[in-house]
Amino acid sequence: MARKNLNRREFLKRAGIVTGGAMAMLALDPITSFARSKDDKPGENLMTYRTQHGTGEKVSLLGFGMMRLPRDNQELVNQMVDYAIAHGVNYFDTAPMYGRGLNEGIVGAALSRHPRDKYYVATKMSNYDEKYWTLDSAKEMYENSFKQLRVDYIDYYLMHGVGQGGMEQLEKRFLNNGLLDFLVKEREAGRIRHLGFSYHGDVRVFDWLINHNNDYHWDFVQIQMNFLDWRHASLQKGGWKEDADAEYLYNKLAKAGIQVVVMEPFRGGALSKMPDECVALLKAMRPTDTVAQWAFRWVSSHPNILTTLSGMNVMEHLIENVETHSPLEPCTAAENELLEKIADTMIGIPTVPCTACAYCMPCPYGVDIPGNFSFYNNAMNNKLLPLPEKSSPNYAKQQAEFSKQYLAHFKAEARANQCMDCEACLKKCPQGIRIPNQLSRINDILRGR
Ligand code: SF4
Ligand code: SF4
Repeated sequence: MARKNLNRREFLKRAGIVTGGAMAMLALDPITSFARSKDDKPGENLMTYRTQHGTGEKVSLLGFGMMRLPRDNQELVNQMVDYAIAHGVNYFDTAPMYGRGLNEGIVGAALSRHPRDKYYVATKMSNYDEKYWTLDSAKEMYENSFKQLRVDYIDYYLMHGVGQGGMEQLEKRFLNNGLLDFLVKEREAGRIRHLGFSYHGDVRVFDWLINHNNDYHWDFVQIQMNFLDWRHASLQKGGWKEDADAEYLYNKLAKAGIQVVVMEPFRGGALSKMPDECVALLKAMRPTDTVAQWAFRWVSSHPNILTTLSGMNVMEHLIENVETHSPLEPCTAAENELLEKIADTMIGIPTVPCTACAYCMPCPYGVDIPGNFSFYNNAMNNKLLPLPEKSSPNYAKQQAEFSKQYLAHFKAEARANQCMDCEACLKKCPQGIRIPNQLSRINDILRGR
């Protein structure tokens, strides 16, 4: 298809869309501005769909993760939602805790401008805080989601982030208080149409829930999946976590007949920072494709995926992701092989598996936690870090350069050395990163230790 041969810049140019960070600030024209090429009709829908088991509903293979949308620009959110719906995206994911509690309301305001049968909305029970561990208080959070989203049924409802804190947390949040039984009854009553959970962390919780599928009949499960975590998540031991590979999770779900919603297909943007030599290999095979297109194509090619969520907050990303899935061109065996090789190359590099979700923020002492990890990962991927041989002739020079760039990048209060080891962030990180330890590692590099 000719459209597939356009590179992203050409594509955006033809679409009349300006590239770059200023995009989000532009006052965008009505929906007719977003035709994808001169041959495309405005709003033409070439999206690839997957079929929801049991109901036969068609779910767009690209799902819109709303978490990163701005809290103060409803107009942009409305325009992105309008564009998405016009181009066939029909799965929208939010949660009570996103956007400092404002995201559901923003999403509800944008979606409710469309007929209810044009979209599926997913939200969650984000009862991480102890104050929501009684059934009554959790029900309040649940009822508020309906109000914020302006709906009388929720299409996809998830227990948010199970696995964090192991079985003990699952018991406190969902089992001992009767909350999961309540949610199952709500599904029977039709207020929840599909019930599932998003999984992070302790694989014993995942196994327990899937092994009890006969009791709960999960309609879907949301997992983190990308070509790096497919076979390498469990290798990242010692530094911060010990987890199951996405391959294990995906295969177990497929075997149980449970469809998968994917989060972090791009590892929160971390895959865009892959080493130059890896990017060159990708470019050699598909010169016009971006790394993001590779990552999305890889995930969405798996047949048991119901939808692949992308956390989008600028129109440019939405347009590119719609393009990638309209229709999806599945990865070939040779492409899969190349990505596997790249994952092997990348995992030798001890980056911090931070997805920039910012659940750990704000830090009471002002540390920019995701910013520090992003800076560190970037430096690591581009071989700017003076690691690991301190005796190497370049060490002093590299250390000085790293420090110079770091000090220029971060205000004093946001730096790693401001961490007081209070551990307030620890239980909030879905990736199980030992945040203070990793910050202290960055600090050690800055101090030349
Ligand atoms: S442990 Fe450090 S980074 Fe985490 S919240 Fe406390 S001061 Fe902030
Ligand atoms: S450290 Fe953890 S919680 Fe914080 S942004 Fe990174 S992945 Fe998210």
